[in-house]
Amino acid sequence: MRPGPSKPPFSIVPEKPRPDFQGLEASSLFCPKCRKAVPVRKRLLLILPEGEKFDYVCSFCSSPIGSKLEKERDQSP
Ligand SMILES: [Zn+2]
Repeated sequence: MRPGPSKPPFSIVPEKPRPDFQGLEASSLFCPKCRKAVPVRKRLLLILPEGEKFDYVCSFCSSPIGSKLEKERDQSP
């Protein structure tokens, strides 16, 4: 068994994972604290009889920017 070269002729660089911007539903909102449009995170705030209320918070400073009420689908036939 011959001792091979210490280094391979080329190294395979693993792909960097992409930032998870595509997973965000709301693209970006204006944050008054950051004073610019920022990517937001969606957070479940309340579960109401008429639907679920979500909070949108800034992904940088975590301040609430907006909220949204998502109505549940009508499950009655
Ligand atoms: Zn912010």
